[in-house]
Amino acid sequence: ASSLGSPACPEVEQSYIMIKPDGVQRGLVGEIISRFEKKGFSLKGLKLFRCPKDLAQEHYKDLKDKPFFPTLIDYITSGPVVCMVCILFTATYFVILSCKAWEGAGVVASARKLIGATNPLQAEPGTIRGDLAVQTGRNVVHGSDSPDNGKREIALWFKEGELCQWESVQTPWLVE
Ligand code: GDP
Ligand code: MG
Repeated sequence: ASSLGSPACPEVEQSYIMIKPDGVQRGLVGEIISRFEKKGFSLKGLKLFRCPKDLAQEHYKDLKDKPFFPTLIDYITSGPVVCMVCILFTATYFVILSCKAWEGAGVVASARKLIGATNPLQAEPGTIRGDLAVQTGRNVVHGSDSPDNGKREIALWFKEGELCQWESVQTPWLVE
């Protein structure tokens, strides 16, 4: 039940985060990335990308029978998106001491909390959608809804060589 990185780069879950075309058009890229950075998450991947239709359809395949699916695909492919892999490094010694350290760090669930409810009018103030958006069809950002979907989405949106193995110097100041 773990998504182990290489020993030189210990990490727990990974979340696929994406700034949608409205976030890019509205000049919110820096603001949105900053929210994840300030929380203590680190970037493992980052790119500006024009999403082809088939990728958008694959990404949102669970919603393909919804009435809003065609407009969702139009929206996501309407301009560049910013693709990110967000991770939370663990203190290196945890790797040696206990495999439990790999579990439950919850970057995926925590990122969803930072993002807020799907409908921005219902999203709590303080969340990205709660602070920066007003409509479900223009809710500025995506975040994986489970660790398994995190893996699936990262594999969809990033090629192996596009991800960066590193460890943040903040780690010992973020986790004990
Ligand atoms: P999320 O995980 O919070 O992003 O929400 P979902 O997985 O349920 O839906 C994926 C995305 O589809 C949302 O972020 C919206 O961009 C879009 N979406 C969901 N529901 C609706 C809807 O009722 N109308 C429209 N126009 N878009 C929707
Ligand atoms: Mg979702």
